[in-house]
Amino acid sequence: MNRTDEWYDVERVTDSSYRIMEVEKYGQYLVTGTERALVIDAGVGIGDLRGLVTELVDAPVTLLLTHWHWDHIGNAAQFDDVRIHEDERTADGRVAIDGLSTEFVDRPAELVEEWQAAGKPLPDGFRPETYAIDPVEDVTPISPGESIDLGDRSLESVHTPGHSPGHLSMLDREKEVLYGGDVIHIDGGLYLHLERCDPRACLETFERLIDLRDDGAFDTLLTCHNRPLAGSELTVFETLRDGLQQILDREADFELVTTDYGRAHRYEVEGSPVFVDPAAV
Ligand SMILES: [Zn+2]
Repeated sequence: MNRTDEWYDVERVTDSSYRIMEVEKYGQYLVTGTERALVIDAGVGIGDLRGLVTELVDAPVTLLLTHWHWDHIGNAAQFDDVRIHEDERTADGRVAIDGLSTEFVDRPAELVEEWQAAGKPLPDGFRPETYAIDPVEDVTPISPGESIDLGDRSLESVHTPGHSPGHLSMLDREKEVLYGGDVIHIDGGLYLHLERCDPRACLETFERLIDLRDDGAFDTLLTCHNRPLAGSELTVFETLRDGLQQILDREADFELVTTDYGRAHRYEVEGSPVFVDPAAV
């Protein structure tokens, strides 16, 4: 049988943080401090994330959502103290996937079907027929630059829009780590073809990240869909910035493709896929 701790793949990434992966490609993080723990993103909502976190830490927990996408808010309703940028909330102040494109709403059920079709086990007690991304009714907005105090240190929110308008990263200056959510997406590329993406804002985000990196604020980038990137690998910011600039200048070749989220221009930047909404270029 498949227990929760077998559903999640938990790995220590620093002396005070864990990377929690599910379904091999959806990541979230647990950052521990002397007074409080911070969970960054809440996965696809199939496992028992709150139960796992309780096994790992004995401290009050804050959940920070980098953005509203379904694969980041899946277990958010399990938490009492939930923070997100206000632009990521619905008009009535919740965090939810309802009212958005069918691609977002249908994707969770498709994931379960794909996982089962591959003959892979789901956690005990999980019922596919009732699986849904539960909305979070009670959310406290967090502003860019605002910090979350963990006791021995604080993590600072950094506005990193592009993939979504209120996308936040969390900076641990003491450990020199940036938790970057989806600033870089699957296979080291960019997903800028979804609802409310803004490729031009993404360019500014890379400038901000380059400045922070060059100031020595961080040396390691932890995203939700990639392995950790560190040191000289962080020139990926310049690579993606320059590639995206070429795309926006219409100087790059593309393929018109149909994705889970609709039609998109698919580019390649140094071997990584960059998807952009055709209407944006
Ligand atoms: Zn996303």
